[in-house]
Amino acid sequence: MSFDRVNWVWMNGEIVQWSKATIHVSTHALHYGTGVFFEGIRCYETPEGPAVFRLEEHLDRLFASAQLHGVKLPYLRNEVGSAVCQVIQANQFSSCYIRPIVFFGSGALTLHPRNCPVEVVVMAWPWAPLLGQGGLEHGVRVTVSPWRKFHPRMMPATAKASGQYVNSVLAVRDAVERGFDEALLLNVEGGVAEGPGENLFLVRDGRIRTNGARHSILMGITRDSVMTIASDLGYDVDEGALSVEELALADEAFLTGTAAEVTPIREVDGIPVGRGFPGEVTRLVQQAFFAAVRGQSARYRRWLHFVDECWFDGACSAMPWI
Ligand code: PMP
Repeated sequence: MSFDRVNWVWMNGEIVQWSKATIHVSTHALHYGTGVFFEGIRCYETPEGPAVFRLEEHLDRLFASAQLHGVKLPYLRNEVGSAVCQVIQANQFSSCYIRPIVFFGSGALTLHPRNCPVEVVVMAWPWAPLLGQGGLEHGVRVTVSPWRKFHPRMMPATAKASGQYVNSVLAVRDAVERGFDEALLLNVEGGVAEGPGENLFLVRDGRIRTNGARHSILMGITRDSVMTIASDLGYDVDEGALSVEELALADEAFLTGTAAEVTPIREVDGIPVGRGFPGEVTRLVQQAFFAAVRGQSARYRRWLHFVDECWFDGACSAMPWI
């Protein structure tokens, strides 16, 4: 991952130079993790130009997170949608990762952020698959983390708030320090919840299973795409609590996420999953997913938002790249 090729950032309604997109050390979000919600979105190169994958659903999740945290965005949904496309165009990216973030800025450092402005930023940068091209092809080695995924009664798991990612960062650092590629977090009930930034799917006897909303997971948009793709391919997809036993007995397992895309798991704590390499169901779902995001599948064209034909009506005062 590199920020070297990023020149422009959308910040509070304006496109500004990367070097000017800065905040003060007294920013509430820096002290208390009150980046109240953010999104992770990918834009892919397609034969018809760059296309943002499932932008509508990401905007819906952003605004649902806002509602959960009781925060009113100072911009309309359309304006944030337009900002996403503007930042891609300004930087002339054909593919990239996009990070809108809404946070409490500088005003006071009381826990209640009542005197802090709500700031909105949209960044974009080129980002290779999170767990590597090798991970996509051969699968990754994961470990069950000693850290548990927080319970939704502690804070809403279905919102993407910055502070809650300290839980994910602990898990991923522990996993990497012990020589693994990624972690899997159990939930408070002892079931397998998800990865630090990915949902989990298990396959046994051709049936696909993944957690549901009650199992302390983020309701991933890639998860939803994969569930649709898998049932279109003719597989049964069930939602329900995943146990450690099911993980140990799975023929195949894979992770899904905007950053990690569809990454097979080849080992859990040194024990091979199935035969120790990506299985057929994972392969087929992965192929169909990449065809969809790259605009090679008419069936899933509805999931693509073509940047050059963006229909969002945004209010951006300064477009210095024109
Ligand atoms: N779980 C967590 C904790 C995540 O951070 C992510 C990444 N946003 C996911 C699952 C996957 O969600 P999505 O497919 O929407 O990126």
